Amino acid sequence: LITREQQKAAQKQAADMIREAGITMTDEEADSIEVADFGLSNLEKEGIQALALVQTDRISVKVLAMLPNQTVPEHWHPPVDDDPGKEETIRVLSGTVYFYVAGEETFKEGFIVEGKDDSYTMRKEIVMKPGDQLTLAPGEKHWFQTREGGAVMYSFSTIARDALDQFADPDIVRITKVVDA
Ligand code: ZN
Repeated sequence: LITREQQKAAQKQAADMIREAGITMTDEEADSIEVADFGLSNLEKEGIQALALVQTDRISVKVLAMLPNQTVPEHWHPPVDDDPGKEETIRVLSGTVYFYVAGEETFKEGFIVEGKDDSYTMRKEIVMKPGDQLTLAPGEKHWFQTREGGAVMYSFSTIARDALDQFADPDIVRITKVVDA
């Protein structure tokens, strides 16, 4: 869980970063930025901020803002009924994103969240700078991370059913609980 205060602070930080990256949004949209802690109550280390620009029954466009040294836990987008699962393209707008997928271990620049070795199994490293993009096939496991300065990126995908995403870390709950402290 996160507190209302934490949510507001992360929304503000994300909105500033997104605008800095050149994306225009209304104040209402800025207030709608999703702040997710994946149920781990450790937002600064494992979490993400996401602004949904397009969300229909078929496609989804989001702007993702990651705070400095924040990690999105390893996950994959499973098939749902006769849909093979979400296909997702990430395109970096600002900052550097360290992306981890299946393949030969080239892990070098990133770090594993303390005590979480078992929850971060993909160790092929792809360092992405502004203008770089990558497409993840449905079901492909991935996790990603930022360092100093954080990062802003687009996520273009087929329909997003975030609540159905699957994670390597058994402690994860996709729906973030916000409490009024
Ligand atoms: Zn994903």
